[in-house]
Amino acid sequence: MTYRVGVDLGGTKILIALAEKNGKILQSKKIPTRANKGPEIILRDLVAEITTLFQVPLEEIEGMGFCMAGYYDRRKGVILGSPNLPGWENYPVEQQLNCLLNFPVIVENDANAAAWGEYVYGAGRGKENLLLVTLGTGIGGALIIDGKLAHGASGLAGEIGHIPILPREGPLCGCGKRGCLEALVSGTAIAREGRALLKTGQQTLLWDMVEEVSLQARDVFDAARQGDRCSLEIIDLAARYLGQGLAMAVNLLNPEMVIIGGGISSERELLLVPLRRYFSQMLIKPMAETVPLVPAELGEQAGVRGILALLDNFLSEKGKKLL
Ligand SMILES: [Zn+2]
Repeated sequence: MTYRVGVDLGGTKILIALAEKNGKILQSKKIPTRANKGPEIILRDLVAEITTLFQVPLEEIEGMGFCMAGYYDRRKGVILGSPNLPGWENYPVEQQLNCLLNFPVIVENDANAAAWGEYVYGAGRGKENLLLVTLGTGIGGALIIDGKLAHGASGLAGEIGHIPILPREGPLCGCGKRGCLEALVSGTAIAREGRALLKTGQQTLLWDMVEEVSLQARDVFDAARQGDRCSLEIIDLAARYLGQGLAMAVNLLNPEMVIIGGGISSERELLLVPLRRYFSQMLIKPMAETVPLVPAELGEQAGVRGILALLDNFLSEKGKKLL
C-alpha cells in the first residue's frame, strides 16, 4: 500500500492528512505552527511529524501536496513572503522540501488549494468559474477560470484581500498599505473595531462580555447575535466593504458563484445577509441576478483536500508521461 500526504501550513496551525490514491483521507492531525522559528525548523518538524503521527515509513509515501499561507511564485518555486509567517521572504520552499523528502512534492498557496477543494468536493462542484474568498485572520482569494486554477503571471492572482478600498484614510494593512479590504473586514479588523468601540464609551453589550485586550472578532459576532446595535453596525460596515470588494472582482471576472470560506464564514447569516444585499446593489444587473454568494462546505479541510486532489492530477500526469 502506498500513501499520499497533504499539508496545510497556516500561521497558527498545521493540518496534516494521510490519504490514499484519489484523495480519500485516512487520518488527519493538527499541530501548532512554531511560526517564529522560521522555515527551516518548521519544515524539519513537519517531516519528522509525518512519520511519527501516522506510523508510516517515508518509503511508503508516493507524494506530498503542500499548501501554505503566503505569496507563492510557482515559476521559481519560491515563497515571496507571508503576512503571518515571519522569515519566509524569498524562501525556496519547493527545493527545500525536495531536499528533505525523496518523493515528489507539489506546492500551492493555501487559498488556491482551498478553492480547488471546494471545486472538486464542496460548494463549487459542477461550476467551472469560481471566486473563493477566505475570511479569517486575513483575507485570501483564489480563482478558478474555465475549470483551471488561475495563477496569473507570477502566481499572485486572486489577492482580493489587498484591493484598496480606503487607500488614504483607511487603517494600516499587514501588507504595509492603507485601507485594503483585509484591513477593513478580516477577523483582525473586526476585533480592532470592537476594541475601538469600547474606547468610545458607547453603550454596548461588549462591556459585559470581555476585557478590551482579549476582545476577538467572535465577541463582536456574539454581541451582534444578542441584538447589540453597535456590534451590528461594525458587521454591517464590514459587509458593505466586502460587498464592494466582491462586486469589483465579480464585475471583472464574471464567475458563476462566489464561495465564502475561512473562520469568519462560520458566522454565516450575521455576515452573509447584509453582504448579499450590498453585493447585489453594487453589481451590474445581469450579474446581480445570476451570481450566488454561498458559504464554503469543507471547513478547515478545504486546503488539504484541494492539495491532495491537485497532487492526484500531478502524479497521474507524471505517470502518463512515463508510459
Ligand atoms: Zn493590504
